[in-house]
Amino acid sequence: MFEGISGKKAVVTGGGSGIGKEICLRFGAAGAGLAVCDVDGDAAKVVAAEIKEQGGNARAYGIDVSDYAAVQAVCTGIAEELGGIDILVNNAGITRDGLLLRMKEEDFDQVIAVNLKGAFNFIKACCRPMIKTRWGRVINITSVVGQMGNAGQANYASAKAGMIGLTKSAAKELASRNITVNAVAPGFIATPMTEELDQATRDVYIAAIPLRRTGTPADVAGVCLFLASSAADYITGQVIRVDGGMVM
Ligand code: NAD
Repeated sequence: MFEGISGKKAVVTGGGSGIGKEICLRFGAAGAGLAVCDVDGDAAKVVAAEIKEQGGNARAYGIDVSDYAAVQAVCTGIAEELGGIDILVNNAGITRDGLLLRMKEEDFDQVIAVNLKGAFNFIKACCRPMIKTRWGRVINITSVVGQMGNAGQANYASAKAGMIGLTKSAAKELASRNITVNAVAPGFIATPMTEELDQATRDVYIAAIPLRRTGTPADVAGVCLFLASSAADYITGQVIRVDGGMVM
């Protein structure tokens, strides 16, 4: 029988904006308890308040995903306050674009620290409560760029490709505990991250998308909801592209 995520406890990183915010709202509306985590604690509070206004259960946590010790401590608190952790969505991400020859070392390191190590930090902290209940779902938000590369994004593409290796390794390690680990690879999604792009660049991207439009945060959140539900019980170690057909 199909089971949604009602009553499950979900942790979403980068939940204060864009795709992460939509995942929080969608999971909250589906009856999950939410830990909305974001380095921008105020943005996380706004999202948690919106979920509560709609009758849901949510708490906000101001946390930098790249801070290993802080993540372990916050997740211990989340597990106590929410009464466990069943679902983790590693969504927090940043870009620091630039051509390889001009890219500063700190821009490479920072993008790896947030996008890749941040996901490791949260998986490590959240899989303990999942192991206890022998049920868990981990969803890592990577990017099509991690599969196809992108000029000007050597740091970001490396981090996103790394997340795919992390996903598959964690899937193999955690499968015996009934924890699935999958990645979702969005293409070009309209969010604050992409709104800085000028119209000419936007047009070039859209011309390469068979569905001829940018994706929405809801397009990505729907796939995350599917992966968190019982409909995806037998899916692990996969990368699901949500890109309007950009990469085939
Ligand atoms: P966004 O900038 O709207 O949201 C990212 C959120 O992450 C923000 O709320 C930000 O405060 C938070 N964040 C940043 N650094 C953090 C840190 N160190 N600790 C905790 N939180 C932090 O971006 P978005 O477009 O919604 O992107 C969400 C995810 O989707 C990212 O991982 C991004 O790489 C990925 N993605 C986006 C697109 C796209 O086209 N928008 C495409 C592919 C993948």
